[in-house]
Amino acid sequence: MSRLDSVIRRLKAQRACLNAAAERVAGREGVVLELGLGNGRTYDHLREILPERQIFVFEREVRAHPDCIPPDDYLYLGDVRDTLTRAAADLAGRAVLVHSDIGTGEAARNAALAAEISRLLPGLLAPGAVIVSDQALALPGTRPLDPPEGVRPGRYHMAVKG
Ligand code: SAM
Repeated sequence: MSRLDSVIRRLKAQRACLNAAAERVAGREGVVLELGLGNGRTYDHLREILPERQIFVFEREVRAHPDCIPPDDYLYLGDVRDTLTRAAADLAGRAVLVHSDIGTGEAARNAALAAEISRLLPGLLAPGAVIVSDQALALPGTRPLDPPEGVRPGRYHMAVKG
C-alpha cells in the first residue's frame, strides 16, 4: 500500500471512529477531551459533530491551523503527562468522549506514552465514556469496542467504560 493510501485509510478510520463514538455517547452528560491538537483536523471535526459539548484540548505546542485553535480556557498547554494530572482536579469523572492521537513514528516512545495515558486517564472518565485512540491503551475499567464497519481492527482503537 502506498503511503498516500495509508494516510487516507487512517483519516477515514479516525472519522468513522469519532462519528461512532459521538453517536454512542449521545444523551450522556460530559465533556470531550482531545489529546494531541496537531493541525486541528480532528478537533475541528469534533466541534462540528458535537456542537453542544465542551471540548478540552491537550497539546504541548500549538501549531494548528488558525481556525482550529481552542479558546485559552479549553486548552491544557504542556506535556500531556503533566496536564492530565492537572486536569484531574478540574474534570474528574466528567469526560464522556476522549480522542487520543499523540503517536509518532517511534514505537518505544508511543508505548511509554500510552502506558502513562492509561494510568492518568481513568480518573477523568464519566460512566459510559468512549475512548478513541491511535495507540492501544490499557485502561482499567474499560472494555474494547469493535471498530465501525470498514475500519480494520488494530488500525484505530475504541473502548468503553463499564
Ligand atoms: N489529531 C490531530 C489532527 O487531526 O490534526 C493530529 C495530532 S498529531 C498526530 C499529534 C500531536 O500530539 C502533535 O501536535 C504533538 O505536538 C502532540 N503531542 C505528542 N506528544 C505529546 C505530549 N507528550 N504531550 C502533549 N502533546 C503531545
